[in-house]
Amino acid sequence: MEPAGEAFLERLQSEVLVFDGAMGTMLFEAGLVDGACPELWNDTRPEVIQGIHRAYFDAGSDLVETNTFGGTRLKLKPYDLQDRVRELNVKGASLARSVCPPGKFVAGSIGPTGHLPDTFEPLGDTPAEVFYENFREQALALAEGGVDLFAIETMMIPDEAIIAIRAAKEATGLPVMCSMFFQWGRDKNIDRTMWGTTPAQAARLLLEAGADVVGCNCGDGGPARAAVIIREMRQAVGDFLVAYPNAGLPKMVDDRTVYELPPEAMPEAYPPILDAGANVVGACCGSTPEHIRRIAEVVRARRRP
Ligand SMILES: [Zn+2]
Repeated sequence: MEPAGEAFLERLQSEVLVFDGAMGTMLFEAGLVDGACPELWNDTRPEVIQGIHRAYFDAGSDLVETNTFGGTRLKLKPYDLQDRVRELNVKGASLARSVCPPGKFVAGSIGPTGHLPDTFEPLGDTPAEVFYENFREQALALAEGGVDLFAIETMMIPDEAIIAIRAAKEATGLPVMCSMFFQWGRDKNIDRTMWGTTPAQAARLLLEAGADVVGCNCGDGGPARAAVIIREMRQAVGDFLVAYPNAGLPKMVDDRTVYELPPEAMPEAYPPILDAGANVVGACCGSTPEHIRRIAEVVRARRRP
């Protein structure tokens, strides 16, 4: 099957598309233990991964992302899985593809490597070409498994995001969405990346690097701040924007991690995100298919007849 990345971008010209919700927190609910490798489940528990993708499609997602957030060689190494990069990414892509209905899309998830560029004194340890090779290897495997586009996400450092965009684009030519993690400075009421980049600066940098869609996903301000971040990006650029915030912050209740925003509390944040100019909306950590079902209702209610 030909990748449908171009069809995805075409659709964005005329409508807002609904992304999926969390994968990681759903896996913990399904029994993934702390310290285990989530991507290994693409091999050992494929039916769980397929079930999560199917639940999101059924809830109204137009696109879902693969269970490959930590699928780079650098991220798999601590689990001694660095020799299974290709296999785990191909399998992750194939699982999402296998349950993707016609007219819907699969995005290959690519997360940060957890390393700092060696130009960042004194903690940086990783040369640019190592980042590039890691992202290229993952992108090629995801494309082999059948993704339509990439979701490079939760990026903390623009430098790493830029390399990931270039590597994915140059290796495959598929469209790239890239979103960053923003911290909410409560005292000044501003949002910045971990390295102080403003939303407008981030949007310009990622687009310059070749991204087709840019935006924000997890952040400590949750969906309310996502609207502010998207508004600032929209003032700076005319390109497609994506927002998939987390369901608020996690807290411990009776030894269980619970997120602040249950499904019924999350959708009210979405009209402002849409008004701000988002072209793709979904949700991140702590969200479930029920969150997405309600968010999709908000989006569909506003679609032109
Ligand atoms: Zn998240």
